[in-house]
Amino acid sequence: MTTPTTDKPTADDRPSLTRNFITEIIDADIASGKWGSPGDRTVVTTRFPPEPNGFLHIGHAKSIAVNFSLAEAYGGHCNLRFDDTNPAAEEDAFVKAIIEDVRWLGFTWNNASSHDASQDGVLYASDYFQQLHDWAVELIDKGLAYVDEQSPEDIRAQRGDLKNPGTAGPFRDRPAAESKARFAEMVRGDHPNGSMVLRAKIDLASPNMNLRDPVMYRILNTPHHRTGTTWHVYPMYDWAHGLEDSIEGITHSICTLEFEIHRPLYDWFIDAINKDRAEKIHHPQQIEFARLNPSFIITSKRKLRQLVEDGHVTGWDDPRMPTIRGLRRLGYTPESLRAFAEATGLTKFNAVHDIGLLERAVRDHLNKVAPRRMAVLNPLKVTITNWADGGDPDRLETMQVINNPEDESAGARPVTFGPTLWIEHDDFMMDPPKKFFRLGPGREVRLRCGYWITCNEVITDDEGNPVELKCTYDPNTRGGNNPPPDANGKVRKVKGTLHWVADADCVSAEVRLFDRLYSVEKPGKKTDNHIDDLNPDSLTVLTECRVEQGLTKHLPDEPAWPDGLRRFQFERLGYFCLDADSADNKLVFNRTVTLKDSWAKQNR
Ligand code: ATP
Ligand code: MG
Repeated sequence: MTTPTTDKPTADDRPSLTRNFITEIIDADIASGKWGSPGDRTVVTTRFPPEPNGFLHIGHAKSIAVNFSLAEAYGGHCNLRFDDTNPAAEEDAFVKAIIEDVRWLGFTWNNASSHDASQDGVLYASDYFQQLHDWAVELIDKGLAYVDEQSPEDIRAQRGDLKNPGTAGPFRDRPAAESKARFAEMVRGDHPNGSMVLRAKIDLASPNMNLRDPVMYRILNTPHHRTGTTWHVYPMYDWAHGLEDSIEGITHSICTLEFEIHRPLYDWFIDAINKDRAEKIHHPQQIEFARLNPSFIITSKRKLRQLVEDGHVTGWDDPRMPTIRGLRRLGYTPESLRAFAEATGLTKFNAVHDIGLLERAVRDHLNKVAPRRMAVLNPLKVTITNWADGGDPDRLETMQVINNPEDESAGARPVTFGPTLWIEHDDFMMDPPKKFFRLGPGREVRLRCGYWITCNEVITDDEGNPVELKCTYDPNTRGGNNPPPDANGKVRKVKGTLHWVADADCVSAEVRLFDRLYSVEKPGKKTDNHIDDLNPDSLTVLTECRVEQGLTKHLPDEPAWPDGLRRFQFERLGYFCLDADSADNKLVFNRTVTLKDSWAKQNR
């Protein structure tokens, strides 16, 4: 092995980039000098090539992380290239959204400006249409491509199948001059959609169906979002993709496993252009890896669109959607998505990735950085009956509550305690079983960073449901601390610690509890329709919540989140993110994830 000749970071220096079969290929290429001088790591050039026909999802996040992280780790480049070769489905709005999502994930493409909305450095396949066209004409001249005027049905019928070779149609051996004339007419827009195609002349008997004279260009008399009506033919993926990579000097063209069987064609097209050519074009290496396929999630754009169009979700950014904007709105951080991409690894084998890994990634990150706050989702009123024992019965006391036990520097914040409080309904039971360590008639609990309280009386409604608890507090437990030992030296103990808010220091809020969108690991597996597997309880909206008043403003312990979203841990409940639906007088929070993976246990 050779030593790197640059002082750029190496793959091994970065803890976040684990070695895998792709880094092995790249390392070997660098050692042998396949792309430049041996040992030069900066030659590594990758690309992320989205089609601007929808919003990015978690699978794209994986591809983005793989391509950008590899380039970064080797000190090379990663291009952001829009594969805009199908005008029928593409829009400028998707271009903007994709750029925004890549930036949000924390990646910068080659030649990008640091200005957020800037499109500097962004590349478009449509900018190469003329070059691709000229190469196609070269192939016609070499007898390696021809215009076929048969119907799509006839062409399909002649392709044969895995057992039978294809058969040649009447146009396969036409003179190059004739194909060239027809191709020029196609380009000019003289013919209707579907009337003719340009095909590569490869091998009708190939066991790889992709090589049986694949279509290079089809006629589409549709305006393109960037090139307008200049073109009436558009290149097929297989023809275009390798050439786009070649033009950009991509070294490692990383894609998902379905394209493995297309690789011979990827190589054939570039070899065909290079045949009898003095000046050879660059020949990148296609490498395939297993796509990200998380359990309980679908990543097909078509199915995601169906969810939006049929109203199963509120939009592409519905927090239950596996889109990057959905996950962002749910409260996911870029760091957590990158950590998830890393945790799922790079392999050559298709497998389902446990969704628990995704949830763990965001839990782990938010645990470190999210400020703690108290919020009561289903409030039950508590009245302290002996508040006067501590002095002025109308007084409010200020408690210091720790902001983040994982981060000492986050300090503490003042929270008001008073004679009227709210606790969680679930934290009280009329007739608690033995293992229930929270509140019940006659029981004592600790209110976190408040006082210890004992429930003496329960006020119920007509149906016997508790509506208010009359409690006494122990003035000797200020801050939630243990009381001093009694006369016999014995220290009283409590097992339960509850969160709470004081009526004098809280605001009401709406909290949206999101659960998985589907209730089965592989949506659609049973009935072939993913809609059948939608989880009917994927959204619960709680409108009567009460949260610390401090949440209405930015407190000093809140991190400066680059995306401006505000994320918190609500003590004992989970991680929550302030939703854009919030207004000054109405806070709305989305639950990002619970504190623990209770789902795995319940549903085993
Ligand atoms: P569709 O769902 O419509 O087939 P697509 O997911 O292929 O679209 P593209 O915009 O073509 O959408 O994808 C851009 C890049 O993201 C491609 O390189 C593709 O391989 C990669 N990609 C898409 N889905 C995944 C996934 N689940 N795992 C890893 N990479 C993915
Ligand atoms: Mg695609």
